[in-house]
Amino acid sequence: MSGEDLLQLLADAEDVGYIGESVSQLAHALQCAALAAERDGSDALVAASLLHDIGHLCAAADAPTMAGLGVLDHETIGGDAARSAGLGEDVASLITSHVAAKRYLVARSDSYRRKLSPASQGTLEFQGGPMSPDEVRRFEADPLAESILRLRAWDEEAKNPEITVPSLESYRGVLQRLASV
Ligand code: FE
Repeated sequence: MSGEDLLQLLADAEDVGYIGESVSQLAHALQCAALAAERDGSDALVAASLLHDIGHLCAAADAPTMAGLGVLDHETIGGDAARSAGLGEDVASLITSHVAAKRYLVARSDSYRRKLSPASQGTLEFQGGPMSPDEVRRFEADPLAESILRLRAWDEEAKNPEITVPSLESYRGVLQRLASV
């Protein structure tokens, strides 16, 4: 799949619910990308924010799911899709790691765990639960760790049913630049 195909999947997700939340998959992706763009995200962070949940949309129809809470391992499926679309290793890694960020934050903070939405708490056990101390150390050693945590924060914020944000079109240039590197 090309970057164009991934944009089309998002365009088609205007009416697809973002599991357990009050926005569509498209609105969630656009809000997450807008937060990345506003807060000085690089092309890689903006693209990864836009596409972080693409695994829910591009998985095979018979892919295993998390008891009604989306596709199991959607982060790896999404990262692989970004890689094969030529968007680069950073974009792929940021997408693949957005669930690890949740497992990291849960391991580091009880109050973070309590603040997770019910759907996000529901998927946590499918995703391996809180990180072990070893996993925490490995996560912190990842040069992308800070960017992964920023994306995670935008992901959690991007659930506002009210706001208007830039359109999908406005990100075509970002994907084209990444694919041409
Ligand atoms: Fe998300």
